[in-house]
Amino acid sequence: MKAFEYASPRTEREVLELLSADRGHTEILAGGTDLIGLMKKMIVKPDRVVSLNRVDSLKTIDANSTAVHVGAMVTLEDLADNPICEFYPAIRQAIGEMASQQLRAQGTVGGELCQRPRCWFFRDKRGLLAERGRAVEEGDNRFHAIFGNRGLAKFSAPSRLAPALIALDARVRILGPNPGDETLMPLEVFYRTPKSEREREHTLEPNQFVSQVILPHPEGRVSASYEVRHGMGPEYPLVAAAASVLVTGGIVREARIALGQVAPTPWISREAIDAIVGLPINYETAEAAGQAAVSVASPLSHNEYKVQLAKVAVKRALLKAAGLETGGLS
Ligand SMILES: Cc1cc2nc3c(=O)[nH]c(=O)nc-3n(C[C@H](O)[C@H](O)[C@H](O)COP(=O)(O)OP(=O)(O)OC[C@H]3O[C@@H](n4cnc5c(N)ncnc54)[C@H](O)[C@@H]3O)c2cc1C
Repeated sequence: MKAFEYASPRTEREVLELLSADRGHTEILAGGTDLIGLMKKMIVKPDRVVSLNRVDSLKTIDANSTAVHVGAMVTLEDLADNPICEFYPAIRQAIGEMASQQLRAQGTVGGELCQRPRCWFFRDKRGLLAERGRAVEEGDNRFHAIFGNRGLAKFSAPSRLAPALIALDARVRILGPNPGDETLMPLEVFYRTPKSEREREHTLEPNQFVSQVILPHPEGRVSASYEVRHGMGPEYPLVAAAASVLVTGGIVREARIALGQVAPTPWISREAIDAIVGLPINYETAEAAGQAAVSVASPLSHNEYKVQLAKVAVKRALLKAAGLETGGLS
């Protein structure tokens, strides 16, 4: 690991004063479960690490009449255990799927959302875009993107919380670059597909950070997350989907459906949404929504299997949100 300066500010303002405008010069440390590994492998080599650990204002969960504000340094475990999650089952389910206990206790909301891709070419120091996409196209791409992969970026977005939060229409509060600067942004807009190695997977400038996630009241919407995975160990799902729906009179009036592990950003499926709105949720309509979701898939040479998994994940997330059984394998 490269030697670095360690800063442990106590306020949001001090954090901003310590962050550099030069990409790579400073990195933010939350729970450290991703960042420390990246530093040990010299994939990121900051001169200064700015820890958020002593900033108490980032550790609270506050609810008011319109929204719930979750601090970026709230641990995944504390969020899942909080009574507000009764109203957001998609969140509790997404966190509940994460093995292990240690990761849930140490990982934070901000860190989970900003963790770097698991792409093995990136983790093998071949760049976020893996040699302008060539390494992925020509190599082992079984865990890579099946949507939004026609540009240079072909990794799949790793966050498990993001699909659930996007389905729930969450926003992020971003602070900086200057003290007093604050931006509220829908989470789906926060993520972007990088076009060059100078860009990251989100829109944050190097001297900005996420301070909060803001969840609107569900107002009668029901939600669920569903993951398709190899096993129960500390590994990422192959594909995940989250759905939030407003059903009145047995008919879906509004829906938000997001997938994870399938594109360089969490992937909102407009096709699935269009397929389910105006209909009741049952096995046939959920299946049709899953089919619609994958109608725009563009799998790579070794990941066509993910198309079927994505279809199943959308279908089961919808059935689960509606409280229907999800048994069976298709
Ligand atoms: C062995 C191992 C197994 C894992 N298995 C799984 C798994 O099965 N499923 C799964 O989902 N995850 C898994 N993870 C990843 C884990 O969920 C993430 O590492 C964790 O959620 C990141 O949270 P953190 O607080 O530790 O972030 P950190 O490691 O501290 O930070 C992660 C990244 O986010 C940035 N960051 C952190 N907070 C902010 C903020 N507020 N604003 C802006 N940027 C910020 C950091 O600079 C860094 O780049 C695994 C990790 C390890 C080490």
